[in-house]
Order: sequence, then C-alpha cells, then structure tokens
Amino acid sequence: MSYEVKINLRNDNYPIIIGSQNLKQAGKLIKNLLPDTVRTFVISDTNVFHIYGDRLINSLQESQLKPDYELLPAGEENKNLLNASKFYNNLLEHQMDRSSLLISLGGGVVGDLAGFVAATYMRGIKFVQIPTTLLAQVDSSVGGKVAVNHEAGKNLIGTFYHPEFVLTDVSTLKTLPKAEINSGMAEVIKHGMILDKDYYNYIENNLSMLSDLKPSNLIQLLKGSCILKGRVVKEDEKENGYRKILNFGHTIGHALEIITDYKEYKHGEAVAIGMVYNCKLAHKMGLLDYSIIDRLITLLSKVGLPTLIPKKIKADQVLKAIRKDKKSYQNKIPMILPKNIGEAIITNEWLDEDLKSVIQEN
Ligand code: ADP
Ligand code: ZN
Repeated sequence: MSYEVKINLRNDNYPIIIGSQNLKQAGKLIKNLLPDTVRTFVISDTNVFHIYGDRLINSLQESQLKPDYELLPAGEENKNLLNASKFYNNLLEHQMDRSSLLISLGGGVVGDLAGFVAATYMRGIKFVQIPTTLLAQVDSSVGGKVAVNHEAGKNLIGTFYHPEFVLTDVSTLKTLPKAEINSGMAEVIKHGMILDKDYYNYIENNLSMLSDLKPSNLIQLLKGSCILKGRVVKEDEKENGYRKILNFGHTIGHALEIITDYKEYKHGEAVAIGMVYNCKLAHKMGLLDYSIIDRLITLLSKVGLPTLIPKKIKADQVLKAIRKDKKSYQNKIPMILPKNIGEAIITNEWLDEDLKSVIQEN
C-alpha cells in the first residue's frame, strides 16, 4: 500500500510518497522520478544510519546511483553552521556537483540541516528527503523550511527550499522511541485542532489502533496531516500570513523550551502544553467553549503528552520568553486561538493579563 500527497506551490509541485516498503524502493523511485541522476550523497545521523543505512545504500547501489554518505552525530545541538560547513567539505571531497542528488535520511534535525546544505551548496542541488520520525513525516518534511540553529536561537539561519520529493516509509517508526512518537502526535493533533474537525475526530476514535503502528493506519494518519499542512503551505508558502496558523501551541511551547533550556521537554511535549494554554486563553477571551479544552486535555493525556505548565514556571517567565521568540521582534505577537475544533483565528489582540491569569489559575 502506498499513497501520494501532492504539495502544490506557486510555480512548482512535488509529491510526498507514503508507504511501508519505500526505503528499499528508494533507488528505483529515484531512477523513475529523477532519471538524470548520476550520483547520490546521503546525509544521515549515527542512530538512524546504523539501523536503516544499509537498506538505503543497497537500494541506491542496485539502481547504479553511486551513493556516498557522511553522518551527523545525533542530536539537535549538532544542527549548526559548523556541521553544515563540514558537509560542504565532504561534498567537495566527493566531487559532488550540480547534477548530484542529496538525500537526507533521518528526523527533523537531519532533514533541516541536509535541506539547508542542499539549498546552498553550489547555489542549490537536488534534494530528496526521507523522514524517519513521526514529527518529520507529518511536519518538518512538509513545506520546505530548512535551517540550522544559531547561538541566539533555533532555526535562525535558513531558507525555503523544497525537495524533489519526500519519501516516507512508515515502517521506520517501529524503532522510534515511544516518547518521539508521542512528540510527533502533538503536531498531528495540532493539525486536527486548527484545520479539520473530521481529522480530529478520526484521531480521537482511532487512538488505540494508531498506537499499534500498523502500517495501513499510519499511512492514513500521515496522509491526513500532509494534505492539511500542504493546503496551508499552498496558500502562504513563505509564512507571510495564513501559514502562521501552524504555530498553534508553539509560541507558548517555545517559551517553555527556552525557559527549560531545551532539556525538559521534547518539542511535541512543549507544543502540547502550549496548545492547552492557547485554548485556555481563547476561553478566557470568550472565543472557545471549555468543553473543547477538556476534550483536548483528555486526548493529549491518552497519548502520554503533558498538559500543564508546572508550578515552578511562573507566568512572568513565560511572557518574557514569548517576547524573546524570533517571531516577535515587533511588539505584537500573533497568537493562534481556536474557536472550535478545526477552526482557529490568528490575532495580535490578546492581553498579557489574560495569559498570566490562565497560567496562574493552573
Ligand atoms: P525530530 O524529527 O523530532 O526533529 P531528531 O531528528 O532529533 O528529531 O530525531 C530524534 C531522535 O530519534 C534522534 O536521536 C534520532 O537519531 C532518532 N531517530 C530518528 N529516526 C529514528 C528511527 N526511525 N528509529 C530510531 N531512532 C530514530
Ligand atoms: Zn512544531
């Protein structure tokens, strides 16, 4: 079983190919879709390559795609310019040129960094992304954001650069730690909450089936999220307006990540808490019925995600950290506030006092 989601851009489109046997088909797919490819270069991280490297490299070799590879040590702290620059050296040493294809195999860290390298090496070479975490499969591989971190903040150095195609193999999720699956589920729930009531209901009703990681269920889930995110990207590729809706839960989530120095929460965990407080703020402002907050908290808890800002974190700290967020050099900070399941507004019109009081009412 395999499924394709088309991502339509202003001047271009590309497919996300979702299946359960895609890794070993990678060579054949590249031959079919990018017949001019002569050489390939794989960027992966040490953990992922250890498990899936052989499968991909063999498949590329079988299709005469002459693969070379280099690895990044696993971990977000390695997504930086220094490592990007090491990969530029590797690409030069291996004599990769503008006819070469760069392939990323890994989670969001690898995808973001390899995409950034592909976008900048020789002013841009072709790129195929193979995401192996749920978070990357439903979120970071969709929509062309590529970046590295800077000391001053995450993803501050980057651009928009789309792959030729995304190749998703749901069977890679079998080896992904449960906490990473849960973290990805936060983004899946986010898509339902802000964009599509039916999708949200589907997640609620199929949660136990989804946790078995059965390929057909996962393909269904990924398809849903990629279609929804793809629609937003089509409307506002460069995030000038509507795409900001995907930041639901992220303004407060980022604040929690900054306060805890990125050590306490996985990204999705921080986003889960952020979504709950965005909803509480929306309720305080008279936009959202409290029963929806209860529903969201129940769903997130069933998934194993946190829903409360711990008492040791004070409301003032959260507000201060929000102002540090990269999207807030201007004074007004957009918040995404749900009005119902599947429906949300983007607004600057919210008050510090209201957010403070929903945090203090904990
Ligand atoms: P994200 O996609 O959430 O940004 P990372 O790229 O940091 O995450 O990946 C999270 C961790 O999971 C890393 O340690 C990475 O090496 C590991 N990892 C990624 N994909 C898999 C997989 N399919 N199986 C096992 N571990 C994986
Ligand atoms: Zn996110």
